[in-house]
Amino acid sequence: MSIVEMAQEEAERRDVQVCAVHLRLGPLCGVVKEALLSSYEMACFDTPLKNSRLVIEDVPIVVYCSKCKAERTLASMQRFCCPECETPTPDVVHGKELEVVALEVDE
Ligand SMILES: [Zn+2]
Repeated sequence: MSIVEMAQEEAERRDVQVCAVHLRLGPLCGVVKEALLSSYEMACFDTPLKNSRLVIEDVPIVVYCSKCKAERTLASMQRFCCPECETPTPDVVHGKELEVVALEVDE
């Protein structure tokens, strides 16, 4: 799992102990949070990261409405329509993220 490898490399490069990995996860990236948490534990087993935590920050789905000319946050991923004007909004701005935003380390 690349997140673990990435964190591990970073820890080795800076010669620190990673205690937590902060991740941004969008509901549209195709990865389920619970699955990610459990596979993280497995991927960290027997590595220098085994005592670290995975902290997941949920990213809301934000679309761009061409009618309002504004970014709108969707309440649900069932309907890709602007909550203000009901225009279909296939233009996704946020929600597909799966990225590491920070590493918490013990210096
Ligand atoms: Zn709109």
